[in-house]
Amino acid sequence: MTTAVQSEAVRLADLIRGAGSVVALTGAGISVPSGIPDFRSPRTGLWANVDPMEVAHITAFRRDPERFWRFYGERFQTLEQKRPNRAHEALATLEQAGLLDAVITQNIDRLHALAGSRELIEVHGSIDHCSCLGCGSRYPLVEVQTRLAADAVGVPRCECSLPLKPDVVLFGEYLPPDMLARAEQLAAGADLMLCIGSSLEVYPVAELPTLTLNGGGRIVILTQGRTPFDDRATVRGSGDVVDELDALIGALGLG
Ligand code: ZN
Repeated sequence: MTTAVQSEAVRLADLIRGAGSVVALTGAGISVPSGIPDFRSPRTGLWANVDPMEVAHITAFRRDPERFWRFYGERFQTLEQKRPNRAHEALATLEQAGLLDAVITQNIDRLHALAGSRELIEVHGSIDHCSCLGCGSRYPLVEVQTRLAADAVGVPRCECSLPLKPDVVLFGEYLPPDMLARAEQLAAGADLMLCIGSSLEVYPVAELPTLTLNGGGRIVILTQGRTPFDDRATVRGSGDVVDELDALIGALGLG
């Protein structure tokens, strides 16, 4: 661990201790150490030449669920076996210690939930369940996998026979308004927002740091690569997210 990471961690620990309300905002970067590549990074393998915006689109799901599930079923298989890393665990530890109010995440991989984060706002949904757009029934991931494997053309189906849709926000879909409102409320009321592993470029996450800053709060950015908020961050760390959060947990005496 570098001295830069350690001195950042000490500053960050002071900021957290001094803040009334602290919220974390996480993106793909926090799950990279769990072996989940950033969805937007260059792709390899079978789907290398497929545009996710096209195949993971709500219109594609409605028009051709078979093709949609060939693509999404593979993502499910990859994601299902992944486990939280120490960065996810650090945020759960902060929450348990009463030093973090909530985690807002763009990630659909459910790793924050598996790590033990309780107050969790998954703004793009989660692979944890699938739903039927016809009758509204919901199925947990393990049941979806069984139905996917049992179907002749690889489409998990509801009891009513319609194809199930992952409870994630597909391209072309709106975010659930209540979830978005909750994220905005948390961001606006935060004294400190920890932005971790996100380029802060994708809506709605891109607007949340502004809400914190406009409300008089501060933002901290721990991510590799630039963000539009770098100039306004009180602490700007660009080390490995696991190292950064390990150092923070150590600096807070929670390790
Ligand atoms: Zn149904």
